[in-house]
Amino acid sequence: MMFTRVLVANRGEIAVRVVRALHELGIEAVAVYSTADRDAPHVELADQAVCIGPPPAAESYLRIPNIVAAAETTGCEAVHPGYGFLAENPAFVRACDDSGLVFIGPPAEVMERMGDKVRAKEQMRAAGIPLVPGTDGVAGLDAVRRAAQEAGFPVFLKAAVGGGGKGMRVVRSEDELESGYAAASAEAEAAFGDGSLYLEKVLSPARHVEIQVLCDAEGGVLTLGERECSIQRRHQKLIEESPSPALDDETRAEMETAVARACATIGYRNAGTFEFLLGPDGGFHFIEANCRLQVEHPVSEAVTGIDLVREQVRLAAGERLELAGRAPRRGHAIEIRINAEDPARGFAPAPGTVTRFRPPLGAGVRIDTAMREGSEIPPYYDSLVAKVIVWDETRPAAIARTVRALSDLEVGGVTTTRELALDVLASQEFQGGDYSTSTLAELQGRLPSLSPA
Ligand code: ADP
Repeated sequence: MMFTRVLVANRGEIAVRVVRALHELGIEAVAVYSTADRDAPHVELADQAVCIGPPPAAESYLRIPNIVAAAETTGCEAVHPGYGFLAENPAFVRACDDSGLVFIGPPAEVMERMGDKVRAKEQMRAAGIPLVPGTDGVAGLDAVRRAAQEAGFPVFLKAAVGGGGKGMRVVRSEDELESGYAAASAEAEAAFGDGSLYLEKVLSPARHVEIQVLCDAEGGVLTLGERECSIQRRHQKLIEESPSPALDDETRAEMETAVARACATIGYRNAGTFEFLLGPDGGFHFIEANCRLQVEHPVSEAVTGIDLVREQVRLAAGERLELAGRAPRRGHAIEIRINAEDPARGFAPAPGTVTRFRPPLGAGVRIDTAMREGSEIPPYYDSLVAKVIVWDETRPAAIARTVRALSDLEVGGVTTTRELALDVLASQEFQGGDYSTSTLAELQGRLPSLSPA
């Protein structure tokens, strides 16, 4: 049975995006907000809104009892978590289950198995998916030393429960290993409350290529192709595109088949993403699974014509996928993340008031944002101002259209990554499709927007 009322447990552009999808399905949307977001667009757009606490996320958007209570008191049947905050928290999924609320995402036990990076790698190995070489699971200093000697330096020490580009440390030589291990473990303990580490070989150059899936409860799996996310700063994505210029048809089909097999093995449900690194050998190696919608999901929507949020809601309501196998796709899509941060100062966050906001219009351009002129970007949350998503028939046409759209975009009052994105789009590396996860750092000093004024 389709839902009549759904709670959106998030804020910002993703809350707006989910409210829109609910309305298109004829479902009422209930927003939640912290006192910092009282006048935010997601609150205004929803049919009802419930204040869940003060600005710090730990006291509002991360407070499970407050959110469950908001859903119960407003008579919601389901909860959409968006991305970030509680989206990958199995305790939240269980709290929803216990209150008879449908969580729009995978079941808690799948999330537990796949959300833990170490267990996810075990599951994927069992499904026959190639992994980035490293330790078999969480490892102490001695096991890490042996694995590092075998894999060769540099290596990554990763927090088993890390995420969002945090909890990773490069160790370049044997001498750094002991102190690096202690520091990484302490950091992980402080950030995530768990100091367990595992080791991975650093693949270099590497490309980040991820596969989007949708799975129904009858075992139906649909793969929506890949997103190339190698333009990154500090291991965080800035520009994404689909298809990836790095994949030939054969590798793409192989990756989608492997992921479909993995989904069947682990009993995956709803929307999810399987992240891989393409190594210098051209092979693909699994790094992690994201059991939720991702920031860059519109890129896949643009090339497949499938509305991922609508599908998430339909699947959570018990409906089946209409298609299975590999989704047909067409053309090329690019997403630019416009963040309020200063690329010339190490991407330092630049919160403030957006005094001017003119989004680009025109054919093939989609803007996902929760900004308006006069909007505050509160310092408490992420610095995403808008996502500019562009579609066109070919990659060169899509690049030209993205340049046009970014040139039309006006954001005043805060420093953003707009100029940096224009510089990247103009670079030979991006134009040629020949870039890796280290390209942005290598362009430092060559791109006007990356040089201090
Ligand atoms: P998070 O969950 O914090 O986002 P990921 O495991 O997804 O962390 O990695 C984020 C990024 O870090 C990747 O896209 C890639 O650029 C880099 N990275 C992670 N693991 C490796 C590795 N073994 N070798 C090279 N780069 C890596």
